[in-house]
Amino acid sequence: MTEIDPNTIHRVNHPIKRRRLQVLRVIDLTPRMRRITVGGPELAGFVSLGTDDHVKVFFPQNAEEHAALESFDPSAGKDQGPLPAMRDYTPRRYDLQTLELDLDFVLHGDGPAATWAAQARPGQYLNIGGPRGSMIVPDIFDSYLLIGDETALPAIARRLEGLAPNRRALVVVEVANGAEQQLLQSPARVHVIWVLREGRQDSLLTTVQHLDMPGGKLYAWVATESRVSRQIRKVLLEEKGLDQAFVKAVGYWKADDSDEP
Ligand SMILES: Cc1cc2nc3c(=O)[nH]c(=O)nc-3n(C[C@H](O)[C@H](O)[C@H](O)COP(=O)(O)OP(=O)(O)OC[C@H]3O[C@@H](n4cnc5c(N)ncnc54)[C@H](O)[C@@H]3O)c2cc1C
Repeated sequence: MTEIDPNTIHRVNHPIKRRRLQVLRVIDLTPRMRRITVGGPELAGFVSLGTDDHVKVFFPQNAEEHAALESFDPSAGKDQGPLPAMRDYTPRRYDLQTLELDLDFVLHGDGPAATWAAQARPGQYLNIGGPRGSMIVPDIFDSYLLIGDETALPAIARRLEGLAPNRRALVVVEVANGAEQQLLQSPARVHVIWVLREGRQDSLLTTVQHLDMPGGKLYAWVATESRVSRQIRKVLLEEKGLDQAFVKAVGYWKADDSDEP
């Protein structure tokens, strides 16, 4: 078997498991970002090694979907009846001593996940699956460029918390307004640019176009609306000349007028 060099970007797969967890706490980090702490005995063995890992969160709407979820085997493939809606969320923090997992939900107003999060109360149950695997980006870079909107904040916060003190990070985050700015903590030297949608001069894309790239060996990570993410990736590769091996740009959600298939 080939040994994986831990100093390269690599993927680690995990056994896929569905977990039925209970809501323990609900706190509002900002008016539009709600932290929901879930936990219980089924969290035992949970593993999330990558800062941008995701779990699938299930939102059954009726008795048929609840029943389908109960018999759902996440390792058995897709054809398993009328499965409930599922959405991707970042494990913001987990603790296997206390068996707790924090998920931060953007309260954007529409859709099964945002609607559930808006009414979540301690004592309710939430089913999650995964993570299926973790993409490990070891802290081997001089600097990090982290770009996204609110949905990217959990992954950005995880990345920043894990950096060594001699690293630099330039973070560009688009949020609705000043009340949505979160405190981002890191041992590294971090500069954060908040792009405010309300009354804005610049978009996330134009802000990135005007950025001076951090020096040294650079890793860039982008997560926002799908089309915007693609546009930013293009800017980073074609205008800023970044090495595509060290640029990851992902669509975290899709606007209704997106031209994505
Ligand atoms: C790997 C990964 C990790 C993610 N981690 C997180 C996370 O930790 N926290 C988090 O909040 N989100 C996260 N997301 C994004 C989240 O999965 C999507 O926003 C998802 O669409 C929300 O589902 P929903 O049921 O609320 O809305 P949907 O049913 O998917 O969409 C309903 C409507 O809402 C719009 N919409 C969806 N999301 C947003 C949004 N963020 N802002 C404005 N309009 C929106 C859609 O365009 C559509 O019109 C992640 C996505 C990925 C791929």
